[in-house]
Amino acid sequence: MLSSPARPSLLWFRLDLRLEDNPALADALAAGGPVLPVFVHDPAGEGAWALGGASRWWLHHALADLADQLDRLGLPLILREGDASGCLRELLAETGAEAVYANRRYEPAAIAQEAEVAEGVLASGAKIYFSNAALLFEPWEIRNKSGNPFQVFTPYWRTCREQGWPGPVRVDLKKLAKIPAKECPRSLALDELGLLPDKDWDAGFYEAWQPTREGALARLETFVREGLDEYEGERDRPDQDGTSRLSPYLHFGQIGPREVAAALKQGAGAVAAGADKYLAEIGWREFSHHLLYHFPQTPEAPLRPEFADFPWRENADLLRAWQRGRTGYPLVDAGMRQLWSTGWMHNRVRMVAASLLVKHLLQPWQAGARWFWDTLVDADLANNTQGWQWTAGCGADAAPYFRVFNPVTQGERFDPQGDYVRRWVPELAKLPPKFIHRPWEAPASLLEDCGVVLGNDYPEPIVGHVEGRGRALAAFEKFKSAR
Ligand code: FAD
Repeated sequence: MLSSPARPSLLWFRLDLRLEDNPALADALAAGGPVLPVFVHDPAGEGAWALGGASRWWLHHALADLADQLDRLGLPLILREGDASGCLRELLAETGAEAVYANRRYEPAAIAQEAEVAEGVLASGAKIYFSNAALLFEPWEIRNKSGNPFQVFTPYWRTCREQGWPGPVRVDLKKLAKIPAKECPRSLALDELGLLPDKDWDAGFYEAWQPTREGALARLETFVREGLDEYEGERDRPDQDGTSRLSPYLHFGQIGPREVAAALKQGAGAVAAGADKYLAEIGWREFSHHLLYHFPQTPEAPLRPEFADFPWRENADLLRAWQRGRTGYPLVDAGMRQLWSTGWMHNRVRMVAASLLVKHLLQPWQAGARWFWDTLVDADLANNTQGWQWTAGCGADAAPYFRVFNPVTQGERFDPQGDYVRRWVPELAKLPPKFIHRPWEAPASLLEDCGVVLGNDYPEPIVGHVEGRGRALAAFEKFKSAR
């Protein structure tokens, strides 16, 4: 029990790992008593989508950072593991807290978890309050003229824009009462959650990321200062540092979209065009959450149900070659290796790599989505589902199935000098721009000079583009005519 005369509140952290712009914290502070921060690691509560390896790595560091920030304010971060409802009820009993404050999540399992937690908290005589830290708009706030959820991005985003978005929520951290260590309930040590990998596969993550609140603010500040102006032109170029790389921070809530939108406003004026385009990408994030909330079956099933019968040809060897970055298409292989090494892949390359898997190789989009889930530090059920269904042509506002990316011309257009490929596929580094995206067309003497033996150092294309495209289109025709 805490010695404070006022009864404490529990602040249940979820995907909102920040103190500023955190409405649950603002509300808990307004209640007047001490605020006790808690995080419950509840893998079973994530349903079929327990955190992948890269997300666990990020979560470990984000929690360490949050605990540091709280420590500077004289507060602990209580860590528990197990069923969230049971853990929170235990803490209510241990601390005499009168309420739980939390921010919402929108994944089907998290919504179910929320309902169970609410039931348990109310049954134990305490109160529970939920707020929104993750989105500009709650998924149920935006409806089309018939009152239904949107399935097309442009009118969705127009409707959002007409509403205008709220600014960040002010949280007066000075009001947080210190809690003496001896009065704190027991907590697991962070390492006891076992989030870091056993194998030494994460070395590149440490080089690529600063997974802290400070890292998020620094990224945002640098991007607004140096990247926003050129965003529209550069965002498709994997060879440039042209995007914000805020996705893992946004996913884990180390920064919120209201804070991002507010920072863009300050930077607007000269950079208004970039800001508009950038906000539209934040809009895609909102749209993905809108879709996941209204169509909760979509992480597993296509939004367009007829695609459930699509004649995929599951093949573990093809899937493995794609996962390992050994398809023989340099842009795709560079992306898959960037993903493995850093936990992130450029958006343009995500689209081309995903397209190769579902179209040229006819592998089910769910298999690709699972791999991304395990390997992305920004793995996000809403964005990942939407990205894969969009690419496979079975989702909302999706590219038609018969539009098949050409992985060679995409490489030549968006990585014209081949610098991105050189970085991630070093065995091709010596090839000149003319052949770096199509090494199989290079003269034998050039390959020899560049030290490349195709089929040995680097694979031949796993399937020819014309053949793969033809096969995908034939599968689509067959599927269409069977309907
Ligand atoms: P920026 O260009 O700087 O964009 C700013 C923010 O807008 C991003 O951080 C992200 O939150 C949001 N955003 C940008 N593009 C999209 C988009 N197409 N859909 C939804 N939100 C977007 N994004 C994830 O956050 N998690 C995922 O698991 C994920 N899986 C994807 C899978 C596939 C097959 C595809 C094609 C895309 C996926 N995306 C995913 C979307 C996109 O690739 C990433 O959000 C983006 O590359 C992150 O880099 P950034 O922060 O530099 O983006």
